[in-house]
Amino acid sequence: MLHSLIFSCFYLFLAAPASTNTSVMDVLFTEKLNSASFIQDSEVPFFVANLDDLFQKHIRWLRNLPRVKPFYAVKCNSTPAVIRVLRILGTGFDCASKGEIELALSLGATPDQIIYAHTTKPQSHIKYACTRGVDMMTFDSEEELLKVSACHTKAKLVLRISVDDSKSAVRLNQKFGAKLSKVEKLLERCKELDLEVMGVSFHVGSGCTDSSAYRQAIEDARHVFDTILLGFQMRLLDIGGGFPGNEDFHIQFDEALDEFFPADSGVQVIAEPGRYYVESAFTLAVNVFAKKVVMDDVTEIRGADSDTVMMYYISDGVYGSINCLLNDPAHTNVAPSERRYQSIIWGPTCDSLDRVTDTYWMPEVHVGDWLLIDNMGAYSVSVSSDFNGFDKAHVYPVLSAHTWNMNVSHKTFYLHQEVL
Ligand code: PLP
Repeated sequence: MLHSLIFSCFYLFLAAPASTNTSVMDVLFTEKLNSASFIQDSEVPFFVANLDDLFQKHIRWLRNLPRVKPFYAVKCNSTPAVIRVLRILGTGFDCASKGEIELALSLGATPDQIIYAHTTKPQSHIKYACTRGVDMMTFDSEEELLKVSACHTKAKLVLRISVDDSKSAVRLNQKFGAKLSKVEKLLERCKELDLEVMGVSFHVGSGCTDSSAYRQAIEDARHVFDTILLGFQMRLLDIGGGFPGNEDFHIQFDEALDEFFPADSGVQVIAEPGRYYVESAFTLAVNVFAKKVVMDDVTEIRGADSDTVMMYYISDGVYGSINCLLNDPAHTNVAPSERRYQSIIWGPTCDSLDRVTDTYWMPEVHVGDWLLIDNMGAYSVSVSSDFNGFDKAHVYPVLSAHTWNMNVSHKTFYLHQEVL
């Protein structure tokens, strides 16, 4: 049975989908879950990917940041249908490795639509980018310049600077980005090595909820442009990723772009959004395949303060698609009158770190029930493993008839088998 329980991921709140989207999703979930053979023979988790949502996100992007060309961060979710839709919509791609470049090219992207946005690259991957004509790539150290100079003399380099990421859920700037004080020396080294530097990039950290972080980073980038007196033709600003994936957060910094990089400055602005495009499009269905009702030793369970604790074992976990703790009980989609129990949800593996929720108040569910978790498109599919031999979740992409036949950029838009 499909239990109508919908969780949200910890910092990802449940956003009610538009009614057309709901019906597309409903049809697919109903088809999958009501199929007797599916229910009886398999507990394997699965995603439904609502591709309509990607279109809505793209339209919102064009409306809010018309000057900024998005290069979708493939690492966030490399499902082929996602890449194909975004390619048709006209985004570029941020690739982090040879494998991601191969994937983007194989799905129709052209080399000039790709930025190799990893500042520490294996030499063989740089050589691969060179042979495939992928020239745009980031760096933040002298050692990286030496590798690029040995493997890809035609590279168009983008200097990644480190910026304040304290307002973001996932911080990146301890690992990546050159300090502003090191910029001049690095650029001098580029000159000595006869390497072309075309721009500056930054990343404010993933899941950024504070517009001022972007403003400060844009100002820092302006500072780099202004202090470069070495004759480089700097013509690109890359504002990275970090944009929230659901509508509960609004980031606005277009006035900072206009102030520091006005439209007539001759600087092209690009971004590397990942989470923004895919987070809300994916809903994960997991099966409750085991259950324990704990009544006598509840005090041993951390945080337990009632006389019954439920323990559920579900078919996906932290080694699979759920690498964040689900802890947003306010968003369980059940009647307020239903009795709730303190519950712990475990992933399927033998590892006790595989704990999906801590003590969590929710109605009782039963072995065989399916739970739906929404907002699961970011860093889920792409990081899941088959640890302990458990199957990875399959992805079922869906698209409404309306989107299937819609007009994009004045061209009649038929996705058909090309996407799905
Ligand atoms: N660009 C780079 C270089 C990244 O490392 C990441 C994420 O780690 C992204 C883009 C995508 O970030 P987000 O998903 O927060 O938009």
